[in-house]
Amino acid sequence: MARDSVTTLGSTIALKPIYTVGTVGDGTEELRRPTRNLARSVSTTEEERPRVTMEEITALAKRRGFIFQSSEIYGGIGGFFDYGPLGAVLKRNVKDAWWREMVELRDDVVAFDSSIIMHPRTWEASGHVAAFHDKLVDCRNCKHRFRADHLPSLEKCPDCGMSGTLTEPRNFNLMMKTAIGPMEDTSSQAYLRPETAQGIFVNFKNIYQSARKKPPFGIAQIGKSFRNEITPGNFTFRVREFEQAELEFFVPQDGNDLAWFEQWVSARKQWYSDYGVRAERLRFYELTPEERPFYAKAGIDVEYLFPWGWGELESIAHRGTYDLDRHIEYSGKDLQFFDEATKQKYTPILIESSAGMDRTTLTMLVDAYQREAVVEGEKQSERTVLRFHPKIAPVQVGVFPLARNKPELVERARAIESALRPRFRTQYDEGNVGQLYRRQDEIGTPFCIMVDYDSLGDATVTVRDRDSMLQDRVAQSALADYLAERL
Ligand code: ATP
Repeated sequence: MARDSVTTLGSTIALKPIYTVGTVGDGTEELRRPTRNLARSVSTTEEERPRVTMEEITALAKRRGFIFQSSEIYGGIGGFFDYGPLGAVLKRNVKDAWWREMVELRDDVVAFDSSIIMHPRTWEASGHVAAFHDKLVDCRNCKHRFRADHLPSLEKCPDCGMSGTLTEPRNFNLMMKTAIGPMEDTSSQAYLRPETAQGIFVNFKNIYQSARKKPPFGIAQIGKSFRNEITPGNFTFRVREFEQAELEFFVPQDGNDLAWFEQWVSARKQWYSDYGVRAERLRFYELTPEERPFYAKAGIDVEYLFPWGWGELESIAHRGTYDLDRHIEYSGKDLQFFDEATKQKYTPILIESSAGMDRTTLTMLVDAYQREAVVEGEKQSERTVLRFHPKIAPVQVGVFPLARNKPELVERARAIESALRPRFRTQYDEGNVGQLYRRQDEIGTPFCIMVDYDSLGDATVTVRDRDSMLQDRVAQSALADYLAERL
């Protein structure tokens, strides 16, 4: 029965079904939506656009150890990247922040971790075998390859400029194939999953029964996915191996499904805002009925304004009962929910949030990046600073001695760093003071502690704030509390 409001997490949400129901068709439809022309769909002002080029981001990422090209010594491999010492921590922090809000702080979401390779029937049921493709176009002259939906026209090659050299678009399935066992015949063919969600759907019954959950409840997982993208690019934005964080939230058929959808849109908005992503560079684009799959009642693309234009970070969708229905049909197994209380059986409605962790990590890097003029007395210089949110910053506190050739300063700085290490992500470093600050600014460390000669006498240290560059003198004994309050 439809209600006027729903109470969730202690707050009441008014039910305003602003989304219209899409036309219902049958069979499998294209899973891959053509890319909307994001650059032209909404005008952006220069103010909003990040003042950094992707070349600068790529160079910084390599120089400071955030992201490297995969297999670089062999010339690299298109669409694959490695996360360096700082990048690995940055990405882990992004994933942890997602996991914290989406799983740990909720009593209605359970954790899950499924295998990358699944029974091939999974991908027939999901529609990926029949319909997960892009349209591919080749230029007969320059031999370059394009996604048809990325081209302004099929008349002329955008690279060599020749007319009439582009082939007819043909379908190219994006799933990566592999073989199981020693015989590479058709019976051994399997796929690397192109999304993590299907692992959740096929386990729906195992999970709700073992976790003793009933709708409304969700299942979350973070894991690797693979897509044989025709044109990987924009650094780690479009890659062939990436991580997804997916929440599949199952709700009863009681008329509150759209309210749940809206609740998840708000929760995701809050998440981006809590972790400091600039609101003016983020938008929640509402898909039109034509842009949604026929079974979806509502859909939102979360998009960030990258230096090249808008790019999708996440999709939030009301997927109806489509996914479970398809697995019920293909497996012949009963995946419906049986409500012990009412003795009723039904297929729950699914609300999905699917976010790319590599794209979110890239967003954090781009969004945090700032180049600014610094005036110190008579001196004018420039600095690059990454203004990471403290929870996301790979290093939270840098500690250094004023001089590296003074054992008593080094010893004191090392002791402070190791005392703080259990509570914060710390890093000890030594060298030229100006360069140390510059380096820590460039990797986005919110606080730096300098141990000088006075520290040896009065047990106080200098704490420098990354953003304001202001310095405080803080008692060594009060350091942990000082930092905890600010981080
Ligand atoms: P796009 O239109 O950009 O190809 P999509 O609509 O196919 O993306 P979904 O299938 O909705 O993407 O996947 C959910 C999320 O997974 C995306 O919002 C994105 O963050 C991430 N993702 C998908 N494909 C890639 C990729 N090739 N590289 C990195 N992340 C990806």
